[in-house]
Amino acid sequence: MEEKQIRFTFGNGANVGDPFCLLIESQAANIMVDCGLGHGSDEDGNGKSVSPPLLAKLNGTPVHGVLATHGHLDHVGDLPHLAEKNCGNVYMSKPTRDFAKMHWFDSMRIAIRKWCADQGISVKQFFEQIIGQSVQAKNYWKEIYLIAEEVGVKLPFSNSDIDLVGMKTKIARAGEEFMVKKAIIKPVNAGHILGALGYKVNIMGRRIFVSGDFSMKETSYGLFPPLDPQAIGPVDVLVVNATYAGARLESLASEKIRFLADVEEATDRGRSVLIPVFSIDRATKVYSVLREKGLEKYVRIAGQAQSGFRIYHNYTQAFWGVDRCCFCDPREEKDLLVSRLTDHEPAIYLVTSGMMMEETISHTFAKRLIPSDDALIAAVGYMAPDTPGRKLLDAAEAGEKRIQWNGSGIPLRAGVKSYQFSAHARSREIAELIKALEPKYVVFPHSETDRVNKFIQEYSGLPGEKIIPENGKPIIFK
Ligand SMILES: [Zn+2]
Ligand SMILES: [Zn+2]
Repeated sequence: MEEKQIRFTFGNGANVGDPFCLLIESQAANIMVDCGLGHGSDEDGNGKSVSPPLLAKLNGTPVHGVLATHGHLDHVGDLPHLAEKNCGNVYMSKPTRDFAKMHWFDSMRIAIRKWCADQGISVKQFFEQIIGQSVQAKNYWKEIYLIAEEVGVKLPFSNSDIDLVGMKTKIARAGEEFMVKKAIIKPVNAGHILGALGYKVNIMGRRIFVSGDFSMKETSYGLFPPLDPQAIGPVDVLVVNATYAGARLESLASEKIRFLADVEEATDRGRSVLIPVFSIDRATKVYSVLREKGLEKYVRIAGQAQSGFRIYHNYTQAFWGVDRCCFCDPREEKDLLVSRLTDHEPAIYLVTSGMMMEETISHTFAKRLIPSDDALIAAVGYMAPDTPGRKLLDAAEAGEKRIQWNGSGIPLRAGVKSYQFSAHARSREIAELIKALEPKYVVFPHSETDRVNKFIQEYSGLPGEKIIPENGKPIIFK
């Protein structure tokens, strides 16, 4: 590295949906921001061992510190991989640490489940083979992680990698500065989800702000502070996650009104409403919105969404009493679901997975509800191409009368609607941030090139030279 040079490399995450990872190199310090895992099935990841291309490079490049922005899989999912390499402390907020742990163990569980399915045995049988007696599988996951690889399961990382990140983790708090080698780092609240931080990095006299996924006032729902440009001040380089730049999105306020009207109409008529949710943030956000209208009395929560509620409640105390909405036995609930449909008793199911992946509760429930006139399926989150959730939305929009679901054709009679509850800043907010920070350079990762170009045209008066990064291609600031 030449003196004074700062080099940015996006290992992944130049595009939306890719796992995010940014390496900032300079003579003063090498800093990594996030290290995500590829998604493909909700936030659960695909259990595969996915290493960002940067990892290979890292074999020679020391990373003096890692700044984790927030607890989504595409930002923290692969940190255990990174920590075992030549790597210093890993900084993150407390909620991010909780969410990250949830993802890491999830990724391992998914890998084991998948391996069992490939071998044609149940998870219970697998546990019994290893432990040598009949056991309650849920009590033995920790032991299984330790020995799974010995019997041939390919885990995304090991139990000890997770322990290692734990040991290297330092808690970051908004406003409390710290040093990574010769760089001064200031964490800033980023909105988006509970515990999300952006980082202001002061390195060799240059001020850099990396937003991470963020949201400002317009997209916030009051449980945690949105990103406030005043906490950052002017910068030289702004890296702004531009997920929905250039997209046509309704405001959260107007989407809320439309959503509540539809759900209330459905429950008034004794219908069942299925809301597939992501476990982190979306479930709590939708619940908070339903509570504004007193509709929470109909809510039933299952799957990973319950863990999301627990963590949110720990930090915000905003979900007292939500326990009575949680159910543990999806089979029992499925029977209840059928009886409710026939008895016209209203119910609202907040269940994972958010994209209705096979073998999840939302997928199973949908199979019962899709053929019913008395059901509303309300999509509140992003559905990736080729996921069952996306196929359902497309079929409904095309007015199709049947759909292939879990291998068989079923009638499509339920109402299917979708609402924009995104936790990402809208175009207007992205523009507002750029304007406020007066950067010399603006880098737009985590989005789609066409839309970012549209955004740049639309907001042509914004300061700074605009850069759309490519995966693995360094950007050098002299
Ligand atoms: Zn995110
Ligand atoms: Zn993201």
